[in-house]
Amino acid sequence: METFIWTPDFETGVARIDEQHRQLVALINELGSTLVEGGRGLDVPPEPAVLEHHFDQLETYARLHFAEEEAWFEARGLDGDELDRHRELHDQFIHQVATMWRTRASMKNPDEVLCGFLSAWLAFHILGEDQMIVRALRDDLPGIATPSGSGEGPARASGATKALLSALNNLYHVLSEQNRDLSEANAHLEARVADRTRELALANEALLRMARTDGLLDIANRLHFNERLELEWGRARRTGSPLGLVMIDVDHFKRYNDRHGHLGGDACLRRVADAVAAGIRRSTDFLARYGGEELAIILPETDERGAVAVARAVLASVRAMALPHGASPTAAHVTVSVGVATSRNDGSTGPERLVARADDALYAAKHQGRDRYAVAEGE
Ligand code: GH3
Ligand code: MG
Ligand code: MG
Repeated sequence: METFIWTPDFETGVARIDEQHRQLVALINELGSTLVEGGRGLDVPPEPAVLEHHFDQLETYARLHFAEEEAWFEARGLDGDELDRHRELHDQFIHQVATMWRTRASMKNPDEVLCGFLSAWLAFHILGEDQMIVRALRDDLPGIATPSGSGEGPARASGATKALLSALNNLYHVLSEQNRDLSEANAHLEARVADRTRELALANEALLRMARTDGLLDIANRLHFNERLELEWGRARRTGSPLGLVMIDVDHFKRYNDRHGHLGGDACLRRVADAVAAGIRRSTDFLARYGGEELAIILPETDERGAVAVARAVLASVRAMALPHGASPTAAHVTVSVGVATSRNDGSTGPERLVARADDALYAAKHQGRDRYAVAEGE
């Protein structure tokens, strides 16, 4: 990266302003070398905090210099419109550099672009604007030194130089407009990407929820049941608390379908699921569709007495619904059979064992005449 070399050509003849310009050049060069070499001459990327520090220093100093320069021009009677125009150039510069700094991650060569812009802008601004203003003021206010490097210097600026400066000025304006459009387009694009990312995250969440929910009954599905049982099994083992499981199966459901049609069967299953849910009291109890016309309830921190109470509540709730079953040898309405198992998880078995025991108990309830519950023996 090229270093900005100060020459007497840049002098305006106002000692204070020249001193500050020299300081700005030094800060630009410092930022440039930090950007390129990490400020340590090593082949590693510069520390972001060090870079930020250099940039902050430059920005703070530029603001300070601009304010002093404007005050100096004003105090020496620079025409109001001219002063406003000059102020606007300073503001534009600060704004533009801040935008470039913010978006430098998207640049191919941020060090070249940034320092190239800083050096070129400062050189052009000093040679054009600052010197021209000082020249005009000097004509009115003798006592300002003539710049040392350029003999008669820019006071003798030719028509061609003036035209060149004016053309450069136009070019700078066109480029800064274009730059602003680009950064606006970029910000717009980033906002749209952020929107899409948010939408995608929401869609993903909905998808995950759907993957764990039964489409017909709108309760947890088998996958979710397995996950939750695994979780509660581990928790019960850690806390030494009992875990209950209740399995529920609709009695003579095949006959129900045959008599009332498959859609009628679907509606019946939904009603049964609602009735079972109504039999649950604790928010930690977890109802799921285990498969077909079979439901299951996981009961954390529940012993046999508690699990039996849930089984009774479920049976009562389904009976109370009194949904007609036109083909059941058991009752005139829909009934369920319930298997209950509980475990004090001592680590000797797994959750599959609890499921198998609850299933055995359910089978026993069926054999004993349905529309009842049975409790699994032992642990
Ligand atoms: P049991 O009293 O011994 O439980 O007899 P059952 O007829 O209920 O048991 P079986 O396992 O012989 O039949 C279960 C029936 O449940 C068969 C199947 O078509 C029906 N079924 C399973 N899932 C659904 C469903 O989502 N909708 C409907 N309508 N029927 C279902
Ligand atoms: Mg059944
Ligand atoms: Mg079944």
